[in-house]
Amino acid sequence: MKSIYDLTASELKEELVRMGEKEYRAGQIFSWLHAKGVSHLDGMTDISRDLKGRLAERFSDRGISVSKCQESALDGTRKYLFELEDATLIEGVFMQYRDWNTSCISSQAGCAMGCRFCASTVGGLKRDMTAGEMAQEIYAMERDTGSRVSHVVVMGSGEPLLNYDNLMRFLDIITDSRGKGLSQRNITVSTCGIVPGIEALAREKRGREHLQINLAISLHAAFDEKRKKIMPIAERYGISEVLDAARKYYDATHRRITIEYALIDGVNDTDEDAAELARILKKTFFTSSSGSLPLINLIPVNPVTESGFKRPDRAGCLAFKNKLENFGINGSIRRELGSDIDGACGQLRLKSL
Ligand code: SAH
Repeated sequence: MKSIYDLTASELKEELVRMGEKEYRAGQIFSWLHAKGVSHLDGMTDISRDLKGRLAERFSDRGISVSKCQESALDGTRKYLFELEDATLIEGVFMQYRDWNTSCISSQAGCAMGCRFCASTVGGLKRDMTAGEMAQEIYAMERDTGSRVSHVVVMGSGEPLLNYDNLMRFLDIITDSRGKGLSQRNITVSTCGIVPGIEALAREKRGREHLQINLAISLHAAFDEKRKKIMPIAERYGISEVLDAARKYYDATHRRITIEYALIDGVNDTDEDAAELARILKKTFFTSSSGSLPLINLIPVNPVTESGFKRPDRAGCLAFKNKLENFGINGSIRRELGSDIDGACGQLRLKSL
């Protein structure tokens, strides 16, 4: 049975009209689901029992539920294990920054991409998540923490651009002002470099406007041969194709691109790597007409038992950052939150897998 959380506001309206109800009911129900964070139809106090009953015949209203939560003693980061309607388990992370809270959400249960350093892919792909499930990860975190989430990063498990339609539906639902009303500019989608997906994002329109979400590209290597060794998707799409697609997204949206680069000791942190990374980024993004260089997010790789990869030490990370800066490229070393609860990047994984 389809979940009521998966409907956009206009679909909900059509459905209610079909059921012989007044249009404005759709706004009330949408707001209960997506703004007031009610977890079941029952909680909608201004909707009649009769209508709730008829909706329940057509749609499921089971929200996702928190199966486990670990809170970091260091920084208040919370890692959640959520249970979906069909008992599939997925993870999400709640992070507190000085002025805002961010939800890191999963877009698929498991992942098919096979990146060698990543824990999310170890058990393969279980299934795509629906738009409503993605949205509910955020609502469940808000309910549990009693705090408002204003920023979302789609950087949990899964490859969002291989679940494209659900991702777009999620964006429509989560940015709708009748519901959660998140700003697109506070949403970041991270991809391992699915070129057709990035190009589709560049073409995507809402009304007459292009998207305004932030795009992060997991590059992790500046040479194709090296990238192939750590990311199987590199066999399919070359680095230059990936960067050209990102450039198209920039040209359409003028949103600055972020490049994610997991620093792996002795693998991708040499002088040649820094020089080549700077060269290809400048070549793609710094053309005479316009352009803005991407920001580089350097992530000291989180050791995942299976991979054997190690992070460079702090000095090594800083040295790589400095080398990039000498070439005119700004990088920042990602601040780690929740490292004591395996909430750190790439460790979204069930201990029990
Ligand atoms: N599939 C998407 C989004 C999920 S991963 C993507 O590939 O971008 C979010 C980020 O965490 C990616 O940049 C990913 O490469 C990175 N990551 C995964 N495992 C990691 C690890 N062990 N250490 C550091 N970064 C990791």
